[in-house]
Amino acid sequence: MADKTDKSTILIVDDEIVSRYTVEALLSSEGYNLVFAECGEDALEKATELVPDLMLLDVMMPGMDGFEVCSHLRANPRLAELPVVMVTALDDRESRLRGLQVGADDFMSKPFDRAELRARIRTITRLNRYRRLVETEEKLVYLANYDTLTGLPNRNLLMERMRQTLGRANRNHQGVTVLTLDLDNFQMINESLGHEVGDNLLREVAQRLTGLISEGATVARLSGDEFVVFEEADDPVKQVSDTAQRILDRISKSMTFDNHEIVITASVGISVFPSDGEEAATLLKNANAALSRAKSQGKNTYQFFTTEMNTVAIKRLILENQLRKVLERNELCLYYQPQISLTTGRIAGMEALIRWQHPELGFVPPGQFISVAEEMGLIIPIGEWVLRTACLQNQAWQTAGLPKVRIAVNVSSRQFQQPNLLQAIKDILIETRLNPTYLELELTESLLMEEDHDKKNSVFATLSELQGMGVHIAIDDFGTGYSSLSYLKRFPVNILKVDRSFVKDIGTNKDDAAITTAIIAMAHSLQLSVVAEGVETTEQLTFLHQRQCELIQGYFFSPPIPVKDMTKLLVSNDAQPFVIPPLP
Ligand code: C2E
Ligand code: MG
Ligand code: MG
Repeated sequence: MADKTDKSTILIVDDEIVSRYTVEALLSSEGYNLVFAECGEDALEKATELVPDLMLLDVMMPGMDGFEVCSHLRANPRLAELPVVMVTALDDRESRLRGLQVGADDFMSKPFDRAELRARIRTITRLNRYRRLVETEEKLVYLANYDTLTGLPNRNLLMERMRQTLGRANRNHQGVTVLTLDLDNFQMINESLGHEVGDNLLREVAQRLTGLISEGATVARLSGDEFVVFEEADDPVKQVSDTAQRILDRISKSMTFDNHEIVITASVGISVFPSDGEEAATLLKNANAALSRAKSQGKNTYQFFTTEMNTVAIKRLILENQLRKVLERNELCLYYQPQISLTTGRIAGMEALIRWQHPELGFVPPGQFISVAEEMGLIIPIGEWVLRTACLQNQAWQTAGLPKVRIAVNVSSRQFQQPNLLQAIKDILIETRLNPTYLELELTESLLMEEDHDKKNSVFATLSELQGMGVHIAIDDFGTGYSSLSYLKRFPVNILKVDRSFVKDIGTNKDDAAITTAIIAMAHSLQLSVVAEGVETTEQLTFLHQRQCELIQGYFFSPPIPVKDMTKLLVSNDAQPFVIPPLP
């Protein structure tokens, strides 16, 4: 390193020439670069010009005194950190206090003691040099890892972060998505409007990207107009196609620079860990291959590296778009599945199950679209429609003089958490004039397992009020969640529905048999009734009958059927109940 940069510069400010000489003599052999100022104004000027490593500042000077100089320094961002040693009269406590208040770092008094002066100055300049070194190093580290134009991580940091994330994802069996983005026709903008506009545009794109991504994600700029976004994902294909679409939408919104309105689009390529590669470099390479395909497909679009993933993403997009119109187009209907009492053979209740008949997609089973509707928030209007339709239908059957049975409606957790659910149910009951005792709500275990204290209390309050009105509460798919007895005891619940997966293998799987037996016994000890779902065979029926399961729902008696068929079944069952196979 050059001698000059290695030497610390000390600015000595003193109006008395004798004092200046003394300091010069005392420090001459120490190898500092000494600069002198004779008054406050001179001191500030030189400090601004040189940014010294230390200022030795006499307090008592005509004109601008040392205190004033120090306050000026502290108000200047470039000099605020400059170490200042104030020279005061010996034991002048008042001056030292004032000195501290205006920002002095240390004090000395005249006449100077050679050893003390040298020692103090050495310590302070060493500390200051060290600080500068750290700053330089930080700057170097920054330059090595960040892109100076946009402030985004550069390729170096991207690769480092990807390696870390991939390692973690591998341990946790998580997916990682890598999305590479390239602006369409960026070169044309650069050439026609100049590089400055081009740079501003890149900064704007960087900001838009940063604003879009979720917390754990990283956006990096690799070069030119090439950006990368990557993150861990539970459901990679869905998450990354959502992100890609949002990015394309956001980028294509117009930007204005120097009164030029610019609209630019981007193309995106996507690869997914682990299916498209296990290493950062491979994933980037494959995302770039997908990016080229997106470009050749006419730009402003995204492509997955794996072709099947495109199909899944497109299907889902179609599904979402179609689902938005499902209510206005009247494409939903309800099927009803009876629940038969094992003591009487009569229909004691029924479950309303949603069906979606789409003119082109055909029949879409609820297992495929309910979760999508939940994510989109559409489950709230759809759920209300189900509730209203089921209550109306039940009331219609009752008005027609058919046997009065309870109708069970599935309510998803997301729907249950909407703040006005209770009011919506009350309104529907009033509107349809259905007696609340003929309505049952099927909830999932997860709802009762809510960990947030306030939410848990609000679930409890809602359930209590519903039960107080006469509405029955059933826990659906029981046994698949956490099956804790303690919460069942605490929550207002009437019915447990044993999940179909246990019933299925009751006859062959000892564990399933034991679990089912335990659930029934436990439910009875808590004065809850049990409905077994998915009962298809005599063997299953007999097993459940022996354990005093009250109600049976399943293909053994009837699959879910449309209104017309259910009306017939209600009539015939009233005249002639199902025959329950006798116990062996
Ligand atoms: P779930 O509430 O557990 O409904 C029982 C499912 O088991 C129904 O499937 C029914 O058709 C089927 N099932 C009944 N008996 C048998 C049988 O003997 N064997 C077999 N293999 N299956 C049987 P579905 O109708 O496809 O409904 C699937 C799930 O979709 C429902 O499970 C429920 O969680 C949800 N769902 C249906 N309708 C609605 C609704 O209106 N709102 C909400 N939020 N979810 C709904
Ligand atoms: Mg159900
Ligand atoms: Mg169920």
